[in-house]
Amino acid sequence: MTIGIQTAAYLFASILFILSLGSLSSQESAKRGVFYGIIGMAIAILATVLGEGVAGQVYIIAAIAIASVIGLMLARKVEMTSMPQLVAILHSFVGLAAVLVGFGSYLDPKTQSLQGAAHTIHLVEVYIGIFIGAITFTGSIIAWGKLEGKIGSKALLYPGRHAVNVALLLVCVVLGVLFAMAHGTDGLIHLYIMTAISSFIGVMLVMAIGGGDMPVVVSMLNSYSGWAASAAGFMLGNDLLIVTGALVGSSGAILSIHMCHAMNRSFFSVILGGFGNAPKGEAKAIEGEVTALNHEEVSALLKEAKSVVIVPGYGMAVAKAQYPIYDMVQTLRKAGKNVRFAIHPVAGRLPGHMNVLLAEANVPYDIVLEMDEINEDMPSTDVVMVIGANDVVNPSAQDDPASSIYGMPVIEVWKAEKVIIMKRSMSAGYSGEDNPLFYKPNSEMLYGDAKVSVEKLLGFLKS
Ligand code: NDP
Repeated sequence: MTIGIQTAAYLFASILFILSLGSLSSQESAKRGVFYGIIGMAIAILATVLGEGVAGQVYIIAAIAIASVIGLMLARKVEMTSMPQLVAILHSFVGLAAVLVGFGSYLDPKTQSLQGAAHTIHLVEVYIGIFIGAITFTGSIIAWGKLEGKIGSKALLYPGRHAVNVALLLVCVVLGVLFAMAHGTDGLIHLYIMTAISSFIGVMLVMAIGGGDMPVVVSMLNSYSGWAASAAGFMLGNDLLIVTGALVGSSGAILSIHMCHAMNRSFFSVILGGFGNAPKGEAKAIEGEVTALNHEEVSALLKEAKSVVIVPGYGMAVAKAQYPIYDMVQTLRKAGKNVRFAIHPVAGRLPGHMNVLLAEANVPYDIVLEMDEINEDMPSTDVVMVIGANDVVNPSAQDDPASSIYGMPVIEVWKAEKVIIMKRSMSAGYSGEDNPLFYKPNSEMLYGDAKVSVEKLLGFLKS
């Protein structure tokens, strides 16, 4: 393939990637967006593999085929609730790739023979690429561990950690200067030490972030992986990789900023490992008593109610309860009740998780409302059903400065006449924080798996 054709193919692929990102911004066009992305990526890979100066195509195609089979198998097997873990581990691959490309590029005899400014620029690219790549690699592995439940979701906050991070960063800067001044491949030792330090920074940054802030971490690592890919593009002199990486990097950063706004968090505080966000004072004592109802009693309450709001959360996804929930909603609506869904921006384990599940069950968009749209209706709501949600309805976010989720906006379900909380036990949500909502006088627990409970309720409602 000539350079001209390759450049045209790269340009076309870039346009498809931009169209893909644009289409992903709404549910109606998202599928089309994924399609554009697939075509763009296929063109990009073909144009690169068949490009001038690329040898060993057979091996490359064999590796792509094997990796594609593994990817397909993984993607088919993965549960929707485990998607963030998969995304996190994929980000770690991008980070690792940037590190390996960095070392390979440094040792490449062609780049070793560069002179003057071109040589210095190349060394800076290598150094920054490996730095970002290593942070992305280890940070993503820790994020995977936290999301998979292999590592506790609580933030690891040790005194002086910010000073340690700043000191390590300064050491990396000094090493960078020494690396740039080294002759031949003498800078390898500086690269090794910097890789170890930045890997450690990646671990510590994500360990310091609590479960409640994990959504931002996932999108932030997405952004880092984009910058790592872009850096790899500079090292390899591949324009498409630079453009694609920049698209991923900037869209991930924009998503992180949006999520921080939605969660009332400072972007820099989250990306710097919870800087200035330490919980303040003693945790507020929880007052009140937990009371529970059975399915028949809850269905009686629903039959009486005129307005019902359903707040779904991660537990609804685990139980796959969206289908019976929609059956229940239709039964209640046929009985003349005003039934709506209230969606918190970070309910579940990935942005838009609840919207996707409800759309899958054919719930019409017009009864699915965002948190800000429905909070003001809470005082005039008869019954709120919290189905497998916990952190997103935790009042400590508003009134307990010692809570790790303090300041995050929540759905104010306790303002309704009656709140039914459907979950299996009294255990905490992903943030690990207790929920005083369960102890409020107008709250009632309905224990059990969400799907089983909804089916039982449906039986009583129809009888
Ligand atoms: P939570 O994790 O706070 O709570 C979910 C609740 O569901 C648990 O308390 C659990 O209680 C219950 N549950 C689990 N399985 C079932 C089941 N089969 N049937 C019934 N209940 C079940 O979820 P929320 O959606 O309220 O909040 C999301 C949390 O996850 C937030 O802290 C958010 O920051 C974080 N997060 C969100 C991401 C995003 O992008 N949206 C990404 C990463 C993290 P029990 O065990 O007693 O049943």
